[in-house]
Amino acid sequence: MKKRAAALYSGGLDSLLSIAMMQRLGYPVTPIFFRTPFFGPDKALRAARSAGFEVRVIDITEPHLEMLKSPVYGFGRNLNPCIDCHGLMFRMAAQLIEDGEVDFLISGEVLGQRPKSQRHDAMNAVRKLSGVKDLIVRPLCQKLLPDTLPIREGWVDKEDMLDIQGRTRRRQMELAEQWGIADYNTPGGGCLLTDAAYSVLLRDLLEHGELVECNLRFLRYGRHYRLGPTTRLIVGKTSYDNEGISGAAKQETVLKVMGIHGPLGVIQGEASSEQLQLAADIVFSHTQRAGDEDLVCYGLNFQLVNRIRGTRMTPEQLEVLRIR
Ligand code: SF4
Repeated sequence: MKKRAAALYSGGLDSLLSIAMMQRLGYPVTPIFFRTPFFGPDKALRAARSAGFEVRVIDITEPHLEMLKSPVYGFGRNLNPCIDCHGLMFRMAAQLIEDGEVDFLISGEVLGQRPKSQRHDAMNAVRKLSGVKDLIVRPLCQKLLPDTLPIREGWVDKEDMLDIQGRTRRRQMELAEQWGIADYNTPGGGCLLTDAAYSVLLRDLLEHGELVECNLRFLRYGRHYRLGPTTRLIVGKTSYDNEGISGAAKQETVLKVMGIHGPLGVIQGEASSEQLQLAADIVFSHTQRAGDEDLVCYGLNFQLVNRIRGTRMTPEQLEVLRIR
């Protein structure tokens, strides 16, 4: 009876290949997708369905947000703390070993493929953070890595492992073709933490001590303005943004210029009367069909029963308040 493995699964080609490879070698594999507010499972589940395996989705939002506040190994090009993130995922997957469900962990990392997270030293860092450093096997490049317990104990034959390294994906593409894997995510694709514009907004939340899940709801929509240390305004830029804002707004104050087709604004955090006036002026300034002054309606829970006069601001005045 082969030992059982849990696999870190992202929906990317490398993780798909590592799972397919171990399954073809006869190992029972439990693929796990770790859900965070920045990386949802939809595409990964679709890719898994087309490759013919089931995935367990585990939500790690809480520890992930905690980790994001001060990652031991810092951030990548944007606000992506990939080394700490991998370490956290291994640590969460290790729970399955503790629970006796699996015997070791696998992942699809390839040595030297990404600039930071998949170098030798980065892999060591991930192993250290994971708390299960001796129980990780990386099937696509394990031949190039120091032996871990599953290899030393003969659970996994090192000769069955591969020695893929570097940034070219030629061998992975060949294997995908050979094994009939055609549906997968692009590398790093889908994680909002690798998006430059999103990272700017997230960094602002971090710097103001506001990194909590409910503050992430509007981050993908519109223009963002900081009105005070704990108060922000989001103004829709497109109809997609406006739909997103109306879908995500719960207890917040929503604003809109009366009787004119234009953007929605939503205030996150408590607003003083000065901040409310500022919010009305900003929403007004983004309403193209409005004149120089008009009524803005606002209220909680989309009950826009209150009125305030909005006046147009200059682009320079808007720029000062814009989060960027
Ligand atoms: S790209 Fe995103 S999900 Fe992937 S390791 Fe980096 S931070 Fe984590």
